[in-house]
Amino acid sequence: MAQHLPFDPPIPMVDLVGQHARIQSELDQALLRASHEAAYIQGPDVVAFAGELSAYLGEGVHTIPCANGTDALQIALMALGLQPGDEVITATFTYVATAEVIALLGLTPVLVDVDADTFALNLDQVRAAITPQTKAIVPVHLYGQGVDMESLLALAAERGIPVVEDTAQALGARYTFSDGRSLALGTLGTIGCTSFFPSKNLGCMGDGGAVFTRDAALAERIKMMANHGQKVKYRHDVVGCNSRLDTLQAAILRVKLRHLDSYAAARQAAAARYDAGLAGLAGVQTPVRRAESTHVYHQYTLRVADQQRDALAAHLKADGIPSMIYYPLPLHRQLAYQSARYPDGCFPVAEQLCAEVLSLPMHTELTAATQDLIIQSIQTFFAK
Ligand SMILES: *Cc1c(COP(=O)(O)O)cnc(C)c1O
Repeated sequence: MAQHLPFDPPIPMVDLVGQHARIQSELDQALLRASHEAAYIQGPDVVAFAGELSAYLGEGVHTIPCANGTDALQIALMALGLQPGDEVITATFTYVATAEVIALLGLTPVLVDVDADTFALNLDQVRAAITPQTKAIVPVHLYGQGVDMESLLALAAERGIPVVEDTAQALGARYTFSDGRSLALGTLGTIGCTSFFPSKNLGCMGDGGAVFTRDAALAERIKMMANHGQKVKYRHDVVGCNSRLDTLQAAILRVKLRHLDSYAAARQAAAARYDAGLAGLAGVQTPVRRAESTHVYHQYTLRVADQQRDALAAHLKADGIPSMIYYPLPLHRQLAYQSARYPDGCFPVAEQLCAEVLSLPMHTELTAATQDLIIQSIQTFFAK
């Protein structure tokens, strides 16, 4: 019998239950072993995971695990030695964490608009925003696809400014330079940061994060920052913080890292099915690919024109299909981050995207049958 909408069980945005069920015995073994070892803080799994993630990301990469992705960004900026008043450029269309850590450290977030097609920070605006006080640029690989890193790195190198990649949504994606070199996102800039929040592409069963760098001296500094500013126990050389990945989470991540490439492939296959099903539908723009970067589809995000976005979301909901808006308000319009620097309408693209973006269910367990129902529901909406 054909399935009808809305149907039971409800369609999830993300299916961790299904994802974990496939590897249940691997996970159970890892958790049991780690719990019996009882080295819950900085245990052997944390060290092993850091080594395995470094090896996955490529030769010469150092990985410093920490408590979450927000901490990873904060620790990166602390390790660069930024001082209150220093300016850090980032996109206004991102998750709040990116700008939050800048403000928390007493640095000045300098927001720029994004490109309408790729959602990536606009490089002309980055160039225009650079001042002698600019001490870092934080690109965000939003939704799972890399920004134009080759141009950004060239600009940053020209001005001597470090680049901190926010790779929370793009772990496992790769970037190819015009000379053919291919590197994992998060390992191109001075420092890279990621999150292991459960719904991220590599997710644990709680909070987790990591910082990456190819610079051994910087790796030591990052490690020290995450560990109360100490290299030697009870010798605190700088003001640091306490940010650790739990051993149990590391044990889980070691298992899931082995599947990360197959998770990316499942997301890419689901994205291709959405693309095909929604191709040519006037009023909807499917994600725009960038030739230089792979896309690991942390989100599959449509742009819905003509103020139809909220109506489409309501229509999907009535059919039992969830959708999400990442993000409904740009940072420069948030109470916490608004400033005289950012008059009304200063970042028109971000404002337009906030009104147009709609993310569809995207996860590793999405079946073709479920996707066809989602596609059919969207087609019905636009046929009206
Ligand atoms: C998830 C996320 C973060 C923060 O990660 P947490 O682990 O939740 O602290 C930062 N930046 C972006 C773009 C994210 O998506």
